[in-house]
Amino acid sequence: MFEKVLIANRGEIALRIHRACREMGIHTVAVHSTADADAMHVRLADESVCIGPPSARDSYLNIPAILSAATITGADAIHPGIGFMAENAQFAEMVEEHGFTFIGPTPEHIRIMGDKVTAKRTVQSLGMPCVPGSDGPLDTVEDALATAKRIGYPVLIKAAAGGGGKGMKVALGPEQLREAYQLARGEARGAFGNDQVYMEKYLAKPRHIEIQVLADTHGNAVHFGERDCSVQRRHQKVVEEGPSPALNAEQRAHIGGIAANVVRELGYRGVGTIEFLFEDGQFYFIEMNTRLQVEHTVTEMITGIDLVREQIRVAAGAPLGYGQDAIRFQGHSIECRINAEHPDTFMPSPGRIDGYHAPGGLGVRVDSALYDGYRIPPHYDSLIAKLVVHGASRNECLMRLRRALEEFVIGGVETSLPLHRRIISEPDFINGSYDIHWLEHLLGLKG
Ligand code: ADP
Repeated sequence: MFEKVLIANRGEIALRIHRACREMGIHTVAVHSTADADAMHVRLADESVCIGPPSARDSYLNIPAILSAATITGADAIHPGIGFMAENAQFAEMVEEHGFTFIGPTPEHIRIMGDKVTAKRTVQSLGMPCVPGSDGPLDTVEDALATAKRIGYPVLIKAAAGGGGKGMKVALGPEQLREAYQLARGEARGAFGNDQVYMEKYLAKPRHIEIQVLADTHGNAVHFGERDCSVQRRHQKVVEEGPSPALNAEQRAHIGGIAANVVRELGYRGVGTIEFLFEDGQFYFIEMNTRLQVEHTVTEMITGIDLVREQIRVAAGAPLGYGQDAIRFQGHSIECRINAEHPDTFMPSPGRIDGYHAPGGLGVRVDSALYDGYRIPPHYDSLIAKLVVHGASRNECLMRLRRALEEFVIGGVETSLPLHRRIISEPDFINGSYDIHWLEHLLGLKG
């Protein structure tokens, strides 16, 4: 097992990884920008190294600085966390070239899944159901028009290098498609430096359902069931839950089995998430994330398994040591992503925390790096806390979530707490009847 792990991230996820390491008897090294010198992940780590100025480009994305920090502290492995370097194949490659273990998949697997066109082709050849669409990238607007004619409108143009919902455009007919095609290419070029786009049939009322997988380096792979992440705004997840109110045990075992089989066939290692749209009882693959996800906590609550610990174990070469039968699902879990942002305009709201009280009690987990007096810097993601609740049943979970949201106090900045209180009081949410458009309709953002 590793003796020392460098955590190449910040905020709640750096803390989450530190906690797993601590419980495994592994020393931790935090890295931080000058804006994060007082951050909780720095305070709790055994050692810390400043890797640059506030801008992420010069610090958390600065590969030479991170590798130097690992060298001078004598770390054996680097955990990239979520975002920043987590899906950067070149970083994974350089980490290993410098003699450290990358806690994540091989650079090759990151590369395959990072290009969504290649990803779709790869998993489709292994029996994964996919959304009907173009067979590859669309090089010209004529290609796009011909593909749309074949699969039928409405269609969605997506960026091959996509992420965070960027570069996606819907078209209801040929005129709109001409425009959407150019817009999507421009947006993709700006966001990812790669303007390759592809097309999918636009599904009208799907749910977003994803399967958590884990594979070791000895040919074993398992799945940990699903998370329903259909409550979204601008294709970004806001609330996640597991199990999905829309699936039964048979559907879970079916799609989970396919997902575990695909990662086994690929020779994948580590944790991963296979994302699907689910409509009229059918699953359609959309992408695979080759990293830990924000909402991994939901799965931990219903399986009792520490996924970060598992991720570190398999990175160190340990065999899983258990099969699919050992994974049991108990009760229900819901996570609210709490952002420092205005609840109506969604504008970021950085600033100093003045008054902080986190809820507690049975079945309540708060993953956050906040503390009273902490100053949220304006340079990074606005996620400041994850409230994750567990209950024996979905109803118990909802009641517990309601009281936990009532107790939660985050003063000094605007947060999305009021939005969450509203979402969980809506009859549709209480009944579990929502799709990926539901939240935007509720907020009046869609006609
Ligand atoms: P990204 O990597 O940018 O997050 P995804 O492919 O994961 O992109 O899609 C993000 C979200 O966009 C999905 O959860 C869903 O809400 C929506 N979406 C993606 N593909 C489709 C589709 N074919 N039809 C309808 N909605 C889609």
